[in-house]
Amino acid sequence: MDLYLHNTLTRSLDRFEPIEEGEVRLYCCGPTVYNYAHIGNLRTYVFEDLLRRVLERAGYRVHHVMNITDVGHLTDDGDDGEDKMIIGARERGMSVWEIAEFFTDAFFRDSDLLNNTRPTEVPRATEHIAEMQELIATLEAKGYTYQAGGNVYFEIGKFADYGRLALLDRQQLMAGARIEVDEGKRHPHDFVLWFTNSKFEHQAMQWDSPWGRGYPGWHLECSAMSMKYLGDRIDIHCGGVDHVNVHHTNEIAQSEGATGKKWVNYWLHAEFLIMPSGRMGKSKGNMVTLSTLVEEGFDPLDYRYFLLTAHYRTQLTFSPEALAAARAARRSLVRQLRDAAARSGAAADDLAGGSSRDRLGPTARATLDAIDDAFMHDLNAPKALGLLRAMLNDDTADPADLLRVALDADRVFGLRLADELRGDDGVRDDRVRDGDELPEDLVALIREREQARRDRDYAAADRIRDRLRAAGVRIEDGPDGTVWKRE
Ligand code: AMP
Ligand code: ZN
Repeated sequence: MDLYLHNTLTRSLDRFEPIEEGEVRLYCCGPTVYNYAHIGNLRTYVFEDLLRRVLERAGYRVHHVMNITDVGHLTDDGDDGEDKMIIGARERGMSVWEIAEFFTDAFFRDSDLLNNTRPTEVPRATEHIAEMQELIATLEAKGYTYQAGGNVYFEIGKFADYGRLALLDRQQLMAGARIEVDEGKRHPHDFVLWFTNSKFEHQAMQWDSPWGRGYPGWHLECSAMSMKYLGDRIDIHCGGVDHVNVHHTNEIAQSEGATGKKWVNYWLHAEFLIMPSGRMGKSKGNMVTLSTLVEEGFDPLDYRYFLLTAHYRTQLTFSPEALAAARAARRSLVRQLRDAAARSGAAADDLAGGSSRDRLGPTARATLDAIDDAFMHDLNAPKALGLLRAMLNDDTADPADLLRVALDADRVFGLRLADELRGDDGVRDDRVRDGDELPEDLVALIREREQARRDRDYAAADRIRDRLRAAGVRIEDGPDGTVWKRE
């Protein structure tokens, strides 16, 4: 099955060809863990999950790396402003290290609730300072850097291809359109690789380096970590559209400057979620989190459904009314599937699974092919969802086929339709029932913890996790729900 992706580098729909057959090296810029992710950020992460699921459906093994930015991301995407982590710590009266841990956990809770698949690796910036320093040393040896005012800068004039991703005009760029803010820079677009002459004397996160004690620039983190885990050349790199002009442009300069090779073959960027009042931002006071939606009675999967109704390359405007419409649509989808299950007399488990395509009647098979075709043409989830809905509304469709198509397509949608059909509460009953014969009281505890998680009472959930652990049972919250293992 051919897969076509819109590549920001070429501004066209390109047929995907991996560097290594059967495998995809995927890097996604991760969260800056100084605050809760807002639902705009989460749109980008759901898009990346959709991409991963489509790649897997196309038959690839995906090596998916997403970093955690826990140092160096300033309030401005360039070198201005203050480190976001310091602001977060100050506002909450916690240390930067505590803030990082707290919001990393919060991020993964939200991701799990949205049924995003966990990346293969999640490296933290603060644990890769040595790799970042090595990268600076390589760039220094190749003549791309200079030191001024105590900081180490990347000199963009030395990198002939600077700005290609963003289609920046090199001549205009070199003329320097922006007002100079940093006296030490040779060019306004030069950027910091290593801060030593820190504007933030109280920066708690500092490391020794050949250029003085300090900390890394944000762009450097992604280059160093992606190259460590995925090698010098990678297939796909993603992020939100806001990263094209500065962050990704600078990442390319660093990585390609260091290796002399083309670094990323396909750049994919998700469009923004916007509020009726404009761009979402903490400072604008219009920031909405997943917890806010849950408190207002929405299921996280209502938000996932809402996101799937728009193509990732179109702006999407959020409103409570639009989300309520998505909730109604998701509920009716589940109702239709339950009804189909009752009519067909089959259990969801019997109908799920990869081989179902062969058992479909011709009409259902054509629908599933069309759904796949939509997924394979730049992840067209809204079209795929529309095709599924049309089939569900067709009275003549065979109910068992309806279920097979829905469950098969849901491996990409990620709406947990099989769980919904089972009336599952998130605990994988198969694991609870068989195998080790977990005693009833422990099964009850697992269920109690699930309820606590649904109520977002994480303190209670963690207490129950500890009790289970004391009884020799380890709990893991994975993409398909909670599973347990004997320690
Ligand atoms: P940050 O934690 O600020 O680095 O942002 C995390 C991710 O969310 C990045 O990939 C951003 O491009 C993306 N992002 C930020 N705001 C929005 C938004 N309103 N809609 C969609 N994606 C966003
Ligand atoms: Zn990045």
